Amino acid sequence: MIHPNTELRFINDAVGLGIFAKTFIPEGTIVYVKDSLEIEISPEDYAKHSDQMKDVIEKYSYIDQRGVHIISWDHAKYVNHCCNCNTISTAYGFEIAIRDIFPGEEITDEYGLFNIKQEIPLLCNNAHCRKMVRPEDFDNYYPQWDEKIKKSLTGSDKLPQPLYHLIDEDTKKELELFYLAPENYQSVYRLKLQLNHVSIH
Ligand SMILES: [Zn+2]
Repeated sequence: MIHPNTELRFINDAVGLGIFAKTFIPEGTIVYVKDSLEIEISPEDYAKHSDQMKDVIEKYSYIDQRGVHIISWDHAKYVNHCCNCNTISTAYGFEIAIRDIFPGEEITDEYGLFNIKQEIPLLCNNAHCRKMVRPEDFDNYYPQWDEKIKKSLTGSDKLPQPLYHLIDEDTKKELELFYLAPENYQSVYRLKLQLNHVSIH
């Protein structure tokens, strides 16, 4: 589920739809939580779909560390990538704002954490655009991503967190350990697909 103070908008024919902030969303706000209603498609179920449906699944999903495609039931599935994204996935099953987001600003994300199988060309406006998001981005960039997440997570327990109730109890305990001592931080590398355990087609 995505943060309640967001809305779906049409951007243009090239980009399609995107998600925008309706209010100020401060850095450290939990912007998305994988809730109990998200659609999970196992590698076995994925293989049973037609090529056309696989394209739909790839467009709207991310792939978790088990190789499961996850599609949001709400408008979270329309969040676009930006190489200078303002939200990012964390090891804690949620996405966090990594800087302040202002009303009317597009909510953007880092697709390099989604365990993509093939390169995806990018349409982002960033001057330092990577032009392509690649499967190897995860290994190349995760230390930078961890630094951003750790900074934004610090003090996030003092912010209004309308999605906090969606976080499972084990993750809440992990978060409490982080707030007590930053060395308990869990690296986002935990989201990396474990190829030893699954095969995806
Ligand atoms: Zn870019």
